[in-house]
Parts: sequence; C-alpha cells; structure tokens
Amino acid sequence: AKRRGKSRSSTFDTAMRQEALNTLRTQMQLREAIVRQQFEVYYQPIVALGSCRLTGFEALVRWNHPKRGIIGPVEFIALAEETGLIVPIGQFVLREACSQMATWRRRYADAGDVSISINLSGHQLGSPTLVTDIEQVLEDTGLAASAVKLELTESTLIDDPTTATRILGRLRDRGIKLYIDDFGTGYSSLSYLHRFAIDGLKIDKSFVDMVGRDDRKAAIVPSIVGLAHNLGMGVVAEGVETPQQARELTLLDCAEAQGYLYSRPVPRDQAAALIERRILC
Ligand code: C2E
Ligand code: CA
Ligand code: CA
Ligand code: CA
Repeated sequence: AKRRGKSRSSTFDTAMRQEALNTLRTQMQLREAIVRQQFEVYYQPIVALGSCRLTGFEALVRWNHPKRGIIGPVEFIALAEETGLIVPIGQFVLREACSQMATWRRRYADAGDVSISINLSGHQLGSPTLVTDIEQVLEDTGLAASAVKLELTESTLIDDPTTATRILGRLRDRGIKLYIDDFGTGYSSLSYLHRFAIDGLKIDKSFVDMVGRDDRKAAIVPSIVGLAHNLGMGVVAEGVETPQQARELTLLDCAEAQGYLYSRPVPRDQAAALIERRILC
C-alpha cells in the first residue's frame, strides 16, 4: 500500500510538473509572439437592430502562431492577464484597431459614424500610461475620440474603483465612450453605472440565449434593456445567432446587436467588405 501511495503521488507530481512546464512554455511563446508581432486584430460587426445597419466593430485579438495557425483569445488571454503580458498585447490592439478605423473613415465617405469597440483589461486600467497612450494613438492615427468605445467588465471596475473612477473620468472627458462588457455576469452593482458615467451595456450571450423562452429567465433581457433606457445608456445584445432572437430583441427595443447571425469576427479585408455592404441582413 505504501509503494502504491508513493507511485501515485509521483504520478501526480509528474502531471503537475508537466502542467507547470506547459504554462511556462506558453508564456515564453507569448513573449516571443509579442516581439515577433504575431498578433492580429479581427473585427466583428455591431448592427442597429431592425435596420441591420452597421454601427461599429468590436476588435478581437488573434494569435497567428507560425505552427498552429490562428489561435483564439480563450487559449491565451487568461495567461496574458496573469503575467501582465496583456498590457503590450492590449496596446497593440488599441493602436492597430484605431489606425484601421481611421483608414476606413477616410476611405469610405459614409463610414463616418462607424465606431470601434476595444476590450480593456484590469491591468491596462492600472497602467499609469493608459490615458497618454490612448491620446498618443488618437493623435498619431487622426481618429476622433468619439469613434472609440472601451469595453470593461464589472470585475475590472470593482478591483480598484478609486483608480478606475479617476482614469475613466479622464478618458470620458476626452469624448471616449465606456461600455460594460458581459453585463449581468459579474458583481452587478447599480451604483457604479452612475459612478463611472457608463455610456452603454453589452448584454452577455448567456442572457441573450434566454430571449423568447416562456419562463422567468426570459425576463432578464427586457429588464436590462429597460435599465439602459431609463439611465439613458446604449444597449448591445451579444451572441445573437438566430433571426428569432433578433426579432424578439427588436420587439424589446434593444438598440444594437452583435453575433454570428450578422458575421463572425473577420480579418480586416473582410471587415472592409462589410462596411461596403453596410446593411448586414
Ligand atoms: P468578449 O469581449 O465577450 O467578446 C465576444 C466573444 O463572443 C468573442 O469571442 C466573439 O467571437 C464571440 N461571439 C460573438 N458572437 C457570437 C455568437 O453569435 N455566438 C458565439 N458562440 N460566440 C460569439 P473571442 O473573439 O473568442 O474572444 C473571447 C474573449 O477574449 C472576449 O470576450 C474578451 O473577453 C477577450 N478578448 C478578445 N480580444 C481581446 C483584447 O484585445 N483585449 C482583451 N483584454 N481581451 C480580449
Ligand atoms: Ca468585449
Ligand atoms: Ca462580451
Ligand atoms: Ca463574453
């Protein structure tokens, strides 16, 4: 029994060591990917419900790995957050997405109202140079601050509310808009909607999936939409996949939607084609 116990624990040790090594390897590869500029920005359209008119894009990062091809953020964002590598990655996404949107606005005369939404991690919010970084990007690209929407999760805001209030206040003074991402999934507190002067809410896909059901869960989305309206905020439904969902959300007076129904996140050339189409249903 003693021997078996020992061998089991050494098997466990081996598994743990293997996992630690894997994490370390990915971390090293992530660092290398930053140096070698292997990240790319994909763009997913956001549309006005009802008309399906393109209103903006969300910038979503991808890792173009030399051997493995395109890797989605679920495979590396958590590690990037833990290691702080999300700061240089996020800085790249910010610059690339703003530069691209500035180009599109110059190239397409009727794209003057198309916005760019960018995800901001807690680490970035804590970076002392965030505000000047963003100002520099806007100056270099010539993009109007009003074209930029920053998406923050509830937990990011709750982490360090004092710093968040100060930083976000400065960004908002410049005309940048602030959205709560994955609304309803975090430490929902209504006080911060006012405190951080939030411009809009993005309803998480898990709630959007409940739309049209005939149980109590179906009441969540109308409540969030009503809340946004009452506070004078915008509201975007995420993860819309079916025409039925779009129809229900339109009836609920939800302003905007994003999801595979309209388009998956796509590389910039395909995104440009979506701007040319303009009406996405
Ligand atoms: P998110 O900010 O909630 O972004 C929406 C995610 O939902 C994207 O996944 C998008 O591809 C996916 N999605 C959109 N519509 C649908 C749909 O109809 N059905 C389904 N099943 N999924 C849909 P993605 O691109 O894999 O990104 C995952 C998460 O990674 C993002 O969630 C965000 O939290 C994070 N992320 C992505 N890019 C960045 C970035 O540049 N910076 C930071 N800090 N985080 C990022
Ligand atoms: Ca987002
Ligand atoms: Ca989201
Ligand atoms: Ca999400």
